[in-house]
Amino acid sequence: MSELNLILLGPPGSGKGTQGEALQEDLRLPYYATGDILRAAVKDGTQIGKQAKEYMDRGELVPDEVTIGVIGERVEGPDASDGFILDGFPRTVPQAEALEDEMNKLGRKMTAAILIEVPQDEIIRRLGGRRTCEQEGHVFHVEFDPPNQEGVCDVDGSPLIVRDDDKPEVIEKRLEQYRTKTAPLVDYYEDRGILQKVNGDEAPDDVADHIRGLLATLRREEEMEM
Ligand code: AMP
Repeated sequence: MSELNLILLGPPGSGKGTQGEALQEDLRLPYYATGDILRAAVKDGTQIGKQAKEYMDRGELVPDEVTIGVIGERVEGPDASDGFILDGFPRTVPQAEALEDEMNKLGRKMTAAILIEVPQDEIIRRLGGRRTCEQEGHVFHVEFDPPNQEGVCDVDGSPLIVRDDDKPEVIEKRLEQYRTKTAPLVDYYEDRGILQKVNGDEAPDDVADHIRGLLATLRREEEMEM
């Protein structure tokens, strides 16, 4: 396939991060997760981190101009010239429009927006049980992926914490933000003919297989058109 420019779409807790990392390994493409980029900026105390922190702590979306700048500079960089995987961006219609403008400017197109669908009660179970390593952000789950020793990261031994935005009242806020601001992107990408849906209510490996399957289909369709 000429180039693969992918968006992972779905509510918080739908597994975008897990699938993004699997795809990154499979496809050897850069993976840009705005949540991870913003958390690193907060930790490093950069200007962007300072602008983002209060919104993130409340479970609200960071203003568009901050996230658009963050992603814009990566998409147009040399690492992304064969394609890229976006996780957590776009999350609003203005962000999607900005991405489209940026791609037009570069003479490129998005390949697919992959919507990972998961029922709401499953999302709450996933987010509520998530534990994150304080040092590097390695992710575990009390029920589905417990660490060897409770409260301790298997990878680097640092304490596992509940991310501020995984606390129950903030989870509710994040889901509300998804419903009101991000869900309209489903129609947005449907209208552009690039929406692909996968069932995210399955084991991570099975979801990854579905995504591989749909990318293989897209590749075949492209070859037939050429
Ligand atoms: P995530 O790790 O993707 O769940 O993102 C964590 C938080 O980062 C979100 O709740 C938002 O506050 C912020 N964030 C991440 N991506 C975006 C985005 N594209 N637009 C606005 N805020 C974002």
